[in-house]
Amino acid sequence: MKQPLTLALTKGRILKETLPLLAQAGIEPLEDVHVSRKLIFETNNPAIRMIIIRGTDVPTYVRHGAADIGVVGKDILLEHGAEGLYEPLDLGIARCRLMTAGPVGWIGGGARIRVASKYENITRQYFAERGVHADVIKLYGAMELAPLMDLADLIVDIVDTGNTLRANGMEPLEEIASISSRLIVNKAAMRSQFSAIEDVINGLSAAVRSS
Ligand code: AMP
Repeated sequence: MKQPLTLALTKGRILKETLPLLAQAGIEPLEDVHVSRKLIFETNNPAIRMIIIRGTDVPTYVRHGAADIGVVGKDILLEHGAEGLYEPLDLGIARCRLMTAGPVGWIGGGARIRVASKYENITRQYFAERGVHADVIKLYGAMELAPLMDLADLIVDIVDTGNTLRANGMEPLEEIASISSRLIVNKAAMRSQFSAIEDVINGLSAAVRSS
């Protein structure tokens, strides 16, 4: 039998907003993905299955063809690159902004600044383009803590409501990119499974338009 089409979904906030769109497109997991500890889920369509993984792993699965289609934040695509992938659809979900942020009232840090972020590549490029010498400090979470502990002057992070920044005495400064979740497709799969993938893209496009 032909392998089912595999969708790689980003767990967490993005997943919560992806499932209703997939349901509108007629694709529903057979089990409650929020309760089960499984990583692979059958769907009501025997030709489609889902895997639920970390966002940073989604482009890796899709690029290598271990999944055919993925749903991932644009922040991840900007940070890790989108080579080998098509990006046919902006799902318009999990909208937020990638921003620089600093302690309230921060007024510049001289010739060199220290910037903490999990977005190491984006941060380096952003400051380099502005001629600012930034030492980038890679963190994996809780970026807001870095200026409070004098590990960094500024941070680069995702901002939605700004509440996390405010709760830690910080404020957003400049917007680097506007972020939402994107559909990505493996380039070889797009050719070999064109009609099945086209059905998913069309179903999701209609769901995005009506939501
Ligand atoms: P907020 O306090 O609403 O500005 O949310 C900020 C925090 O929530 C950030 O540090 C992010 O880790 C997380 N966050 C907010 N929106 C998103 C999103 N769309 N995708 C991923 N993480 C997000």
